[in-house]
Amino acid sequence: MSHDMSHDTPKGRQIYEGKAKVLFEGPEPGTLIQYFKDDTTAFNAEKHEIMAGKGVLNLRISEYIFSRLEASGVPTHFIETLSPREQLVRQAEIIPLEVVMRNVAAGSLVKRLGLNEGETLPRPLVEFYYKDDALGDPLISEDHIAVFGWCSADELAEIVTLARKINDCMVEIFEKVGIRLVDFKLEFGRVADDMGQKIILADEISPDSCRLWDIESNEKMDKDRFRQNLGGMVDAYQQVAERLGLASDIKDN
Ligand code: UDP
Repeated sequence: MSHDMSHDTPKGRQIYEGKAKVLFEGPEPGTLIQYFKDDTTAFNAEKHEIMAGKGVLNLRISEYIFSRLEASGVPTHFIETLSPREQLVRQAEIIPLEVVMRNVAAGSLVKRLGLNEGETLPRPLVEFYYKDDALGDPLISEDHIAVFGWCSADELAEIVTLARKINDCMVEIFEKVGIRLVDFKLEFGRVADDMGQKIILADEISPDSCRLWDIESNEKMDKDRFRQNLGGMVDAYQQVAERLGLASDIKDN
């Protein structure tokens, strides 16, 4: 991490470093601090750049979406924001799935099935990928999840229900600000509760993990700007934050 860390909170032990975030032990047992870096990767980290200001924007956008989802009854790991790059979150046992929701054909779906990019799907599509960088996150079916025991049938049913509800909420949030929610990726985890265990939404929701197109111009406002060398990635993320009504003073952190 190469930027000015003067805003950062004193933290516990680093427990994990991912491509775009770092996790530290939190102040209380069962909590973590999720730190948003400017590192930007694509194609399983073959392409890597530091995009100044990206981490701060992703934190703000993700915080906003997680708060809106909580208000709609979706349980999430988000507790509070501690600094422009740090969130206090609930520690969860991450289920090793990337759950992708799609409304419009793009990315790997277009390649796999020979669709035209931009075709609206007959209804929202849910897909599962096995979260394993060494394998390149392969597409899997529900039966793979059952056979290999990555989560129980009840947990999977809950994950699908939550993913569809999250999609409905997010389509509306973005539509109101002139953005088409093409697709996005979710991660879920389990936490202990009074009834045993429950599923909560974890990780982040940001233009790193969503495809967002301007409704009028179809301009890409997400990480495809980086993947496809279109330039202006951070400006596009800033534009997403501004349209959502988030502070425009977030660029200098
Ligand atoms: N996605 C992600 N992390 C991944 C793979 C995909 O956040 O490791 C997101 C991606 O940004 C897009 C959606 O999931 O919004 C669907 O991605 P797709 O399967 O089309 O793969 P890609 O074309 O990004 O490789």
